[in-house]
Amino acid sequence: MESALTARDRVGVQDFVLLENHNSEAAFIENLRRRFRENLIYTYIGSMLVTVNPYKELEIYSKQQMERYRGIGFYEISPHIYALSDNTYRAMRTERKDQCILISGESGAGKTETYKKILLYYSVTCPTNDRMASLGDCLLQSNPVLEAFGNAKTLRNDNSSRFGKYVAVQFDFRGAPVGAHILNYLLEKSRVVHQNHGERNFHIFYQFLDGGDNDLLSTLELERNPQKYQYLVKGNCPRLSSVSDKNNWKVVMKALPVLGFTEEEVQKLLNIIASVLHLGNTQFGEGEEGETYITTEPHITKLAKLLGVDGSALGEALTHKKLTAKGEEMISPLNFEQAVAARDALAKAVYGRTFTWLVEKINQSLAPKDELHRSSKSSTVIGLLDIYGFEVLQQNSFEQFCINYCNEKLQQLFIEFTLRSEQEEYETEGIAWEMVKYFDNKIVCDMIEEKHKGVISILDEECLRPGETCDVSFLEKLEDALGGHPNFVTHKSTNGKTRRVMSREEFRLLHYAGEVNYNVSGFLDKNKDLLNRNLKEVMCQSDNQILTHCFRREEVMDQKYPEMAATQFKNSLMKLTEILVSKEPCYVRCIKPNDAKQPGRFDEVLVRHQVKYLGLMESLRVRRAGFAYRRRFEAFLQRYKPLCPETWPNWHGALVDGVSTLVSHLGYKEEEYKLGSSKIFIRFPKTLFTTEDALEA
Ligand code: ATP
Ligand code: MG
Repeated sequence: MESALTARDRVGVQDFVLLENHNSEAAFIENLRRRFRENLIYTYIGSMLVTVNPYKELEIYSKQQMERYRGIGFYEISPHIYALSDNTYRAMRTERKDQCILISGESGAGKTETYKKILLYYSVTCPTNDRMASLGDCLLQSNPVLEAFGNAKTLRNDNSSRFGKYVAVQFDFRGAPVGAHILNYLLEKSRVVHQNHGERNFHIFYQFLDGGDNDLLSTLELERNPQKYQYLVKGNCPRLSSVSDKNNWKVVMKALPVLGFTEEEVQKLLNIIASVLHLGNTQFGEGEEGETYITTEPHITKLAKLLGVDGSALGEALTHKKLTAKGEEMISPLNFEQAVAARDALAKAVYGRTFTWLVEKINQSLAPKDELHRSSKSSTVIGLLDIYGFEVLQQNSFEQFCINYCNEKLQQLFIEFTLRSEQEEYETEGIAWEMVKYFDNKIVCDMIEEKHKGVISILDEECLRPGETCDVSFLEKLEDALGGHPNFVTHKSTNGKTRRVMSREEFRLLHYAGEVNYNVSGFLDKNKDLLNRNLKEVMCQSDNQILTHCFRREEVMDQKYPEMAATQFKNSLMKLTEILVSKEPCYVRCIKPNDAKQPGRFDEVLVRHQVKYLGLMESLRVRRAGFAYRRRFEAFLQRYKPLCPETWPNWHGALVDGVSTLVSHLGYKEEEYKLGSSKIFIRFPKTLFTTEDALEA
């Protein structure tokens, strides 16, 4: 038989705290690599789970596997997302406290797959009630729909989530799920009108064209070939080898009725998808006097019909804007670029708002049916966060700025959570410890979000300032306000010291996860996210109820300047933070092993970078500050009692005395361990290994 030691050499340790050399990043990565080679994609750092995307189907997610993990202690069998799901669920039940699972990692690392596995685990293993059958179904069916409308092929991931989501699943006192609620964050709307080379628009467009039946397509005057649509050709990538758009279309069409969408609503939804495609093909010409007109004239009638609006009003609103000056309304013509921008703004608004409507609609089907559970007091919650990871592209714009800010906030929360909970544990157990120091990124969060002085405030001010403002004047304002800040750099402040020469349109933020250069071009427009008032007016008169729900009369009447995009995002993140801090957190950190989306390849440079910015070494250090391992007295006794005649087969005295008897029999030295009030803390992994080996001998 293989000895325990060689097995450990081959498959590594299942909890990083057991690494002999816990300060060595190389040892950390080597452990990941060994396990990855053996298809062991999960490893713990204490209660945190680290996963490496296998890029292939592993046979570890079956119902039998779920049964194995039910009710079992965290360390008793190999690490798994099911173990973490189960543990979280039991913690919620026994402590009656809300929990949340925060899933992070870069694009393509496996966050959404992890999220879906957790949902699946709960829908299979939780006790059922009448509601459960339909709720479980709705929750699982919501995935293909949200992915069709919110995911797209990018260079990094064929199924990349272009929105963030927080899903709260509500359980009754018996532990049966009774309802759920989805919060969505910042859909990347710009993708509707533009895609980078090798990327696609949102899946739904291709699914529809590939899978919709002939009659339907011809009624909507759509052609099958995606290359016919301006909004789909930019990335020059109409097909995906990894997925079948046609099959996915069927899945989505089956899911919608389960989620409570009526036939009529589905029809209206399809009209909207078709109208976005037709809108993209709307072309403009320039007259001699510089006026703009629509060259695709019969086509605008078709478009208006699909949107359920008046054709001439739509044509007028796409080429003119309405201003109110001194109480009087004026119509002024748009030039060519302005008309194109107005058209694209309409497409983005229609798609983005429809997406929000879709989430609301799904939420209705997930809402608790029982009056009692509508108020959250009678139930407990497990929240799941699947949100975009830190992003650095060749060109970084407003979207990356928001995404990275979001990660900065989550990192801050992580620091507070881990330090706090670790410290609390030592305190409640009455054990002295020393705090681990690491980079507190509060300074970066403040720089971004502080009132009046932060990047977002300055951006908003520049958007609202009357007179000539532009992206570059925004950059100048940033320089004035933040020029001396240690985490802010522009070409002026680099003094030739930094590695990469910066352009005059860039500013650089030193994030906790690394430096990112942001190009200011487009920042103001994206932040204003303006839709001309007359376009709004046209839309709110639509006879498509989805659209009238999305474009409200009040919005047109409201003279107040609407909240800017970055501020809206900031506020929604504040709310998210509030939700998360009220819960008991646990973390899943996803790692992407290579950029080629291939199984079996472990790119060390890429992995090291992620280990760094996910703060895994720090997590390990905090976890080990003082003690590598801890176990509740019962669990420790239960496992090792055969090693001592006095504790075997049963110990009848106090647990603490049993553990004490056991460890002195095993010859633990005083400096090797400490007994808290309910747990034993073991300082060195070796001690535990020796004990484990004794058990196997
Ligand atoms: P993004 O931030 O772009 O949304 P993500 O972290 O959500 O990325 P996923 O979409 O979950 O990434 O994963 C990308 C792909 O990796 C999946 O489509 C799947 O092919 C593969 N993958 C991820 N996790 C697993 C797993 N546990 N088993 C098998 N394949 C996986
Ligand atoms: Mg995802």
